[in-house]
Amino acid sequence: MARPLNVLFVSSEVDPFAKTGGLADVSNALPQAIRALDHEVRVMLPRYGVINERKAHLHEMLRLKEIDIPVGGKKHSAGVKSSFLTSTHAKVQVYFLDNPHYFGRHGLYVHPDTKKDYQDNDERFIFFCRGILEVLKRLGWAPDIIHCNDWPTGLIPAYLKTIYRDDPFYAETRSVFTIHNMAYQGVFPASSFPKTLLPADAATEKSVKAHGNLNFLKAGLFHADALTTVSEKYATEIRSSEEFGCGLQDIVQERKADLTGILNGVDYTQWDPAVDELIPHRYDIRTFDLKVDNKRALCAKMGLPFQEKTPLLGIISRLADQKGFDLIGEAFDELLAMNLQIVVLGTGEKKYHDMFEKASQKKPDRIACALTFNNELAHLIEAGADMFLMPSRYEPCGLNQIYSLRYGTIPIVRATGGLDDTIEDVNLAAGSGTGFKFKNYTSSDMLKAIQRAVHAFADQTAWRKLMRNGMGKDFSWEASARKYVQLYRSMVKK
Ligand code: ADP
Repeated sequence: MARPLNVLFVSSEVDPFAKTGGLADVSNALPQAIRALDHEVRVMLPRYGVINERKAHLHEMLRLKEIDIPVGGKKHSAGVKSSFLTSTHAKVQVYFLDNPHYFGRHGLYVHPDTKKDYQDNDERFIFFCRGILEVLKRLGWAPDIIHCNDWPTGLIPAYLKTIYRDDPFYAETRSVFTIHNMAYQGVFPASSFPKTLLPADAATEKSVKAHGNLNFLKAGLFHADALTTVSEKYATEIRSSEEFGCGLQDIVQERKADLTGILNGVDYTQWDPAVDELIPHRYDIRTFDLKVDNKRALCAKMGLPFQEKTPLLGIISRLADQKGFDLIGEAFDELLAMNLQIVVLGTGEKKYHDMFEKASQKKPDRIACALTFNNELAHLIEAGADMFLMPSRYEPCGLNQIYSLRYGTIPIVRATGGLDDTIEDVNLAAGSGTGFKFKNYTSSDMLKAIQRAVHAFADQTAWRKLMRNGMGKDFSWEASARKYVQLYRSMVKK
């Protein structure tokens, strides 16, 4: 039998400790799914100020001041705390890299009040990347694979290929870099480069720079031994055009042979209405008549009049341009004129906060918004809404549309990236499909898809068939975890 692998999974957000989006869900579920396949996996993230020491059961492993990490000309002390992921039966150890100066704040990347990036994000994540490699040596644990995720971890592969290239401790360690979103790149002026302490010859476009700047994502894309992204369609999109590649399409194209698309899965211990402890009325594919009780609860909570025969459309999202809110803005009058109610849960850009607030003030019986981050409400919306809208401009994988399937909440999505890979367009006559798709990024095409859905909802027999189609789909992590393990295996010594 092949030997178990040692994997360190590095991420800047891990549910339930720190979360702004889907990366946190993946960083919780994937390590546990790999652990369930009998590999040794540990997770590492920064020890942010938002993490409650007592609630998260943190205990100290390495005291602050035991290790110094160089950033530019200064040394910064690092500590390590530890806890566990326990949402499945596969227990995974989590390390928190501690430095109160860099991470003892309430935001992950941006100041919670001003919503502006922290000015020292370059130093914070240089410290994180370098700190991990130093801490592992101190802990005496050399992983076969360091699995890096998104720009905050992008310098790790670069360090492994430069400063640590001849370090015997890392002689057998290989790096995987997963792109969860090409648009967030960690771009800093060239003047930030010396803070990395990488050798001077790394300051080129053939290493960690892109378009003259220090670019963390580019560093990962250039130096990692293998690249992955979170759906097959997105793997093709990001090397095909500037629009999806966000200026880094050429390096992705160069590394095409090393890039694999592996779809994200769902942690059904968290996101399944049959076991969901955060919703008032549990149901499954046989008892989904109970779903309407969740709709009633959701309407009550959001202050919307409960109208059983009017479809209730849910939105849960970071309020960012990526997610297609400009289309909703353009189409708002038509949307509010339709036989439809809308609930929105989201936080992000101010212009979208204003847009939704205005609409809900204008038509309080049609649309209600919660412009905050609220996991419990996210679950209630999945359970209570009839349909779920994701009109994304681009979508690496997307999770909420996959959650929606299991909750019998029919997705309406733009056919891009993971949305296209996970949702099958409805054919009402044939009774087939799991959601309503539209292709062109225009408000008129989005409206047509919503109209198709509203029309379909009127025929409850046909609608219930669609609910069953979606609820019967299985996107559990195991299949994807096996693909990651296969990739790891192909990279390490037997
Ligand atoms: P992305 O990673 O681009 O934000 P995904 O669809 O992959 O998009 O994942 C979004 C995750 O974040 C889901 O688990 C969703 O429920 C959650 N989420 C997003 N916004 C909120 C919010 N305002 N409150 C609670 N959960 C949210």
